[in-house]
Amino acid sequence: MIPFSPPRIDDEVINEVIDTLKSGWITTGPKTKKFEDLITDYCGNKSTVCLNSATAGLQMMLHWFGVKPGDEVIVPAYTYCATGNVVNHCKAKLILVDINEDFNVNIENIKAAITEKTKVVMPVDIGGFPCDYDKLNELVNHPEIKSMFSPNNEIQKQLGRIMILSDAAHSFGGSLNGNKVGSLTDVSVFSFHAVKNLSTAEGGAIALNLPAPFDNEQIRAAIKTKSLHGQSKDALSKMKAGAWKYDVIESGFKCNMTDIQAAMGLVELNRYQSNLTRRAQIFGLYQETFSKKDWAITPTFKTDKKETSYHLYLLRINNISEETRDNIITEIAENQVAVNVHFQPLPLLTAFKNTHNIMDYPIAFNQYKNEISLPVYYNLTNEQTKTVINTVIAAVEKHI
Ligand SMILES: *Cc1c(COP(=O)(O)O)cnc(C)c1O
Repeated sequence: MIPFSPPRIDDEVINEVIDTLKSGWITTGPKTKKFEDLITDYCGNKSTVCLNSATAGLQMMLHWFGVKPGDEVIVPAYTYCATGNVVNHCKAKLILVDINEDFNVNIENIKAAITEKTKVVMPVDIGGFPCDYDKLNELVNHPEIKSMFSPNNEIQKQLGRIMILSDAAHSFGGSLNGNKVGSLTDVSVFSFHAVKNLSTAEGGAIALNLPAPFDNEQIRAAIKTKSLHGQSKDALSKMKAGAWKYDVIESGFKCNMTDIQAAMGLVELNRYQSNLTRRAQIFGLYQETFSKKDWAITPTFKTDKKETSYHLYLLRINNISEETRDNIITEIAENQVAVNVHFQPLPLLTAFKNTHNIMDYPIAFNQYKNEISLPVYYNLTNEQTKTVINTVIAAVEKHI
């Protein structure tokens, strides 16, 4: 059986976790701080906060920006449920828009969806391929679009425009114009969930990159406080003898990263380039084969400006129904290869069906109905990759 995306747990990871356990400091502490600083160095953003998930990171940032009932947040229809759920949790109006054939959000559709109530746009780098951030940054800074923005707190007044909060759950290490995701727009949120490129079991990071006059270090401190109940002192500073007294400056959340998670992250980050290189090789093997098949629509993952983080290889099969795709997946599974579908557009899910109709998102549906994601990970050997390829070809050619 070839699994879809097993975590890379070896002695290096195990030893770093054991080191943390033996250190006596297991919750947020020195390793989390070090991991955050190394992420900032790697991505070239201004400051970073690690949390227990990407979802929490998205939610913290919507809360920080003061998104409330009556506000609108624009999200692509083609994403994981987390991107939509966090908007619903703020009781803001979720505005879904359709995508491009590269699976990413269409900037013209965002433009058409902007109103005086729009506070945030949340693009999603599907499969690790960065969205058109140059166009998106330009759009929210356009005088006509800016003049529509109606701030209702000091932070919104200071930004003076729609905030871009990127769901970069897939795209750690991806780049645009030679700059890494994290440094491409206002805020990008990474996921370190078990199935992602870089894993801390559960985890995420907010890459802060807000423009002047924002002080991103100060925002980092505010988000840290917000992620720990709104408490004015964290566990490490309360540890010092006699330093028991603290205040709670707001009703915060509880979603900090532990040093056990950060220990895994430090090892993964240190060897991340070799991870990306191996993933790129696997993409290359898939691409070489499938680009020769007339039934295959291969994904866009590298252009002269952009490069993916090689998170997901999103293969599509020409002219098939959803049912045929599902039969192909069953056939592949019966042959001991695990594949997946990324994603069911939000309007297909019960939680979003009542407010959004899939008929309004024809490209999202088309991209979804014939999509099959293939295994990509560091430990997948060339031989296993070949097995995946042969299994997929046999299953497709049997069913089309
Ligand atoms: C995995 C994922 C998330 C959520 O990440 P967590 O760290 O599990 O919260 C959000 N958005 C997308 C697109 C994802 O794939």
